[in-house]
Amino acid sequence: YRTHVLVCGGTGCTSSGSQKIRERLDEEIRKNGLEEEVCVIKTGCFGLCALGPIMIVYPEGAFYSMIKEEDIPEIVEEHLAKGNVVKRLLYDETVKGEDVLPLQETNFYKKQHRVALRNCGVISPENIDEYIGTRGYEALGKVLTEMTPAEVIQVMLDSGLRGRGGAGFPTGMKWKFAAANEADQKYVCCNADEGDPGAFMDRSVLEGDPHVVLEAMAIAGYAIGASQGYIYVRAEYPIAVERLNIAIKQAREYGLLGEDIFGSGFDFDIELRLGAGAFVCGEETALMTSIEGNRGEPRPRPPFPALKGLFQKPTILNNVETLANIPQIILNGPEWFASMGTEKSKGTKVFALGGKVNNTGLVEIPMGTTLREIVEEIGGGIPKGKKFKAAQTGGPSGGCIPTENFDVPIDYDNLIAIGSMMGSGGLIVMDEDTCMVDIAKFFLEFTVDESCGKCAPCRIGTRRMLEILEKITKGQGTMEDLDRLEELAAHLKSNSLCALGQTAPNPVLSTLRYFKDEYIAHIVDKK
Ligand code: SF4
Repeated sequence: YRTHVLVCGGTGCTSSGSQKIRERLDEEIRKNGLEEEVCVIKTGCFGLCALGPIMIVYPEGAFYSMIKEEDIPEIVEEHLAKGNVVKRLLYDETVKGEDVLPLQETNFYKKQHRVALRNCGVISPENIDEYIGTRGYEALGKVLTEMTPAEVIQVMLDSGLRGRGGAGFPTGMKWKFAAANEADQKYVCCNADEGDPGAFMDRSVLEGDPHVVLEAMAIAGYAIGASQGYIYVRAEYPIAVERLNIAIKQAREYGLLGEDIFGSGFDFDIELRLGAGAFVCGEETALMTSIEGNRGEPRPRPPFPALKGLFQKPTILNNVETLANIPQIILNGPEWFASMGTEKSKGTKVFALGGKVNNTGLVEIPMGTTLREIVEEIGGGIPKGKKFKAAQTGGPSGGCIPTENFDVPIDYDNLIAIGSMMGSGGLIVMDEDTCMVDIAKFFLEFTVDESCGKCAPCRIGTRRMLEILEKITKGQGTMEDLDRLEELAAHLKSNSLCALGQTAPNPVLSTLRYFKDEYIAHIVDKK
């Protein structure tokens, strides 16, 4: 084909009508007799979700945004047939006088570094050959034919990769513990139960590059001695589920899952399990309990899953984004990965950038990038010229970062030091009009709804904290309520069974730390 048209088929663009765009494109291409010259590919997310529906035409790299069905005849007749780019329909940042700039030179992309997202918006997620064409499954071939399991684990340890699901535990250590435990069966689980409000990093990887997750799970299986993997994915992600099913089928047909992979004698297969949307099922022991067919409730640790996990067998659980880094680490070496990021947080991190910011979407930046760079440069600043007030990271487990920490390099440890946490990667920007007490209340309402109720500190404590916040926002609070909030938060943190309860007070504590004046204003002004 002389021309390739990539149409975003991620959830964001699908909801803004990209399927209709695709159908109209096919129709107009047929009408113009261009079927032999133009190839249309449905990809995953490009990142600029607010500009959907999106498509890119190569070789020019012309980035068309917010396309409507009625724009398609002109794009086909002018651009695809005659080679004249329709500039008025391009994303305005890619137009400079007569020139059409590559997307990589726009403010949104130029500070990004795509490792986990490298294939998203680039290949067809439904075609295994396209994944193989970008060195897909080469890392699996390398570990099975050239490396021992211990060497694979050493590479992971040397890379410094930490879990991207929130806690930041070193991935190599997790694998090492599970490898050391002898058992007749071990398991590799993938946590694709992304539940934070505003987070869609994992969904985008699954929709845009599902094979990378399968390949990484097989590598993990080889490293720890497991022959079975499970992907626990939200049923609310139908596109991701469909593409995973296609990918698993194709990988089996190509002999990349199943028995005797690459003739190495190593067997590994993967099954999907659909989660019904309980936030607590993102907690590792609850997730495994749910896979076992029981109500998804956390269980006490120890024993840790590396010793007794799924079906009481040694198990590792890695999140989607963590896995998406692994084939690249094997191919490029641990030093390559460790050369990115900060001293204790290596590599890149994907954030779902949302809220009061001009460019909302999916961004992947090296660890150590500042919030200012993300909000002002990549995000294009705050709409309507308003002032930045705070950013919330880590969803209901995280906290609010105020302007005074705008220049702190973002990594696991720095975020904890300033009262937030990395979480899985939701990043919600707030402007000067946002009430921070309302924000704390919003997240607490979420945790009250999602608490599984198994332990009293979380079941009762979150509800009592929410009642106090409701009182304060109705203008009925007292200064003693602020002390009571801190007291309850301390109980929750130290006595809850799982991370949901232990971290639930964070949005309240961080807003009390940085925006106490807003709480006091509600109390004093009685509104
Ligand atoms: Fe359930 Fe909350 Fe206790 Fe976790 S902390 S087990 S979510 S009640």
